[in-house]
Amino acid sequence: MELKCSDLGVADCDFVAKGDTPGDIVEQMVKHLREEHHIDMPEPDKILENQWAESPVFKEDKEDIEVIVKRMRQALDIDADNEDTPPPPRFAVGPAPWV
Ligand SMILES: [Zn+2]
Repeated sequence: MELKCSDLGVADCDFVAKGDTPGDIVEQMVKHLREEHHIDMPEPDKILENQWAESPVFKEDKEDIEVIVKRMRQALDIDADNEDTPPPPRFAVGPAPWV
């Protein structure tokens, strides 16, 4: 599996993280974002465990980081990230009672 830096919303970057597991990719991507883009990413472990919001690195640019982390988790299909995106409401199927 692989993940492009541009998929996370970083424009004009060709970096691609490749690995066998989401953990490998998150680790490479965090390192890359820190070194090349000077983004204060939370630890890879925290991202994988969905505890990144508790990381002390957050400052005023928390929202940018949040977007990147969420895109990363979505792209890698990491579980337990459904709190913010509940499934669409289901509508009852059948004739309306007034028909
Ligand atoms: Zn990049």
